[in-house]
Amino acid sequence: LLAADGTVAASIFAEMSALAVRTGAINLGQGFPDEDGPAEVLDAARQAIADGVNQYPPGRGLPVLREAIARHQHRFYGLSVDPDTEVLVTAGATEALAATILALLEPGDEVVTLEPFYDAYGGLIALGGGIHRTVRLRAPDFQPDPDELRAVITDRTRLIIVNNPHNPTGAVLPRETLELIVSLAHRHDALIVTDEVYEHLTFGVPHVPVAMIPGASERTITISSGGKTFNTTGWKVGWLTAPAALVTAILAVKQFLTYVNGAPFQPAIARGLDLPDSFYSGIAADLRARRDVLESGLTAAGFTVSRPQGSYFIVADAAPLGYTDGAEFCRVLPDLAGVVAVPIGAFCSAANRPEYASLVRFAYCKKVDVLERAAAQLAGIT
Ligand code: PMP
Ligand code: GLN
Repeated sequence: LLAADGTVAASIFAEMSALAVRTGAINLGQGFPDEDGPAEVLDAARQAIADGVNQYPPGRGLPVLREAIARHQHRFYGLSVDPDTEVLVTAGATEALAATILALLEPGDEVVTLEPFYDAYGGLIALGGGIHRTVRLRAPDFQPDPDELRAVITDRTRLIIVNNPHNPTGAVLPRETLELIVSLAHRHDALIVTDEVYEHLTFGVPHVPVAMIPGASERTITISSGGKTFNTTGWKVGWLTAPAALVTAILAVKQFLTYVNGAPFQPAIARGLDLPDSFYSGIAADLRARRDVLESGLTAAGFTVSRPQGSYFIVADAAPLGYTDGAEFCRVLPDLAGVVAVPIGAFCSAANRPEYASLVRFAYCKKVDVLERAAAQLAGIT
């Protein structure tokens, strides 16, 4: 986790956002929206502060939020979870991942992820003393090969981390893949940790939570966050739902990580989770239009792109433009086009990085005029 000189290595997102600030380039690197979310949610936080919701909430989270999470799981997916025992509020999805991995992993256990993988998975598996195994997702559709899943998931596997919709590729896993993962988890007695922070951001395909697959809910920890759904990434309110015994084990770790999470943000996220269906279909349609703007811009500029079915991100291959090293390309992109992106290699193990060398990730969770400006600037790369 440390850089070669012993200092703390900056995450790729912090490094690229700093590059954007330094150069004045358009930041399509770190995935955060550049507009506020629904007024109801923002007003509810202000109201909660005015109402004195300012002291330590319960460790599991305020009941008003746990109940809203349970209602949300039922409304969208028909899933029944008990707000008192099967829901845990966390400091973003990140703490949900950290507490889950530290609670459920023994040193030496194997953890399987899809590669490229969100950077926190690698760090947290290392903190937990686990052995990280991956199944590769390959362009253009970034879907896992069923035989590779069968080969990597074994009796040594303790946790299978699913990320759907997927960061950084934007892939959405079809139901058959989820069914295969659940059957392999049964066969090898593994638990499934599913990171579904982009659950409401799919384009023309439904989001199927792993927990909806028959036989899954008894061995699945489902993680989400208010950040992506309500444009409140800076609030760091996330949650997980899981069988009561697993929630208890995870709470035992969580109490020593953050103890509890920001009180006034919890009723505000609860307000968001109760917004009508039209809000949810609206944010997906809106983001899809932004994806289309950036996808056309990247294609017109000469990149080969893989159309994402969900998430904030699109993967582009810079090789057709003559750039085969994505990390180097991202370093010079502010000069070339006044834009910042993230190399896909940052989401890969060192051994597998060469296979993804020319791929870079652009975020389209930005205002349409910003995306149009970025597209125009990218068109000037020669
Ligand atoms: N998982 C994935 C796949 C993400 O993309 C992110 C961040 N955007 C997180 C987890 C972290 O979410 P949070 O900010 O709620 O901790
Ligand atoms: N999840 C966002 C991304 O992938 C930001 C994550 C972060 O800053 N740690 O870009």
